[in-house]
Amino acid sequence: MKQGPDKVLECPNCKTAMIIFTLASGNTVDAQTWTDGKMIAPMLPQLPAITKCSTCTHFFWLCEATVLGEIPLWGPELDKIPENWKKAERVRDLTEIEYLEAISKGAALNRDQEIYLRLGAWWAGNDPQRDMNHTPEASGFTRTQEGIHNLKRFSGLLDENNPRERLFKAEAMRELGLFSEALNLLVFNFPKEYENNVNLIRDLAEKKDFLLREIIE
Ligand SMILES: [Zn+2]
Repeated sequence: MKQGPDKVLECPNCKTAMIIFTLASGNTVDAQTWTDGKMIAPMLPQLPAITKCSTCTHFFWLCEATVLGEIPLWGPELDKIPENWKKAERVRDLTEIEYLEAISKGAALNRDQEIYLRLGAWWAGNDPQRDMNHTPEASGFTRTQEGIHNLKRFSGLLDENNPRERLFKAEAMRELGLFSEALNLLVFNFPKEYENNVNLIRDLAEKKDFLLREIIE
């Protein structure tokens, strides 16, 4: 992985400067993927698309924020950056509760943005199940009422004619314990590259297993 220079953005609401990393290059060596579709790649960290301002708590999409400049990785220019950039907070991933808060505050202006936020909430809610120190059974995971509600709303937004969205929906149904709905959704002409994931999710649904599972290729 090769890091690029940090970018400095400003909160559109209160103009506080915030910092986000950039990547010059990366790869998926040692990446882990799970049945909910999340991939964690140590050498290819995912940039968030939305964040919460640390000063005024406003949610904003990073693509809509004004870029103030860049912090060079090294060199004499590094000493010349503004004081407020030096103590600026880093953009971080939202928590499950924050993703849902962003929706309730109207951050999703269209279907794609709502899907992004509900998917983010689902993944963040599932993160305790990704802890490699526990088996999924031993993690003692229970989904919150907000998490269950989110997963139902998320499923309702998905297009069953789109293979990727249909597979997300099948997995959401399985994780909700709605196994026959999950199995029905898996009866579909999925493209070849989906075969491994479809078979795994079908096996789990047949065993009435609702826990998140890592996909071992
Ligand atoms: Zn702000």
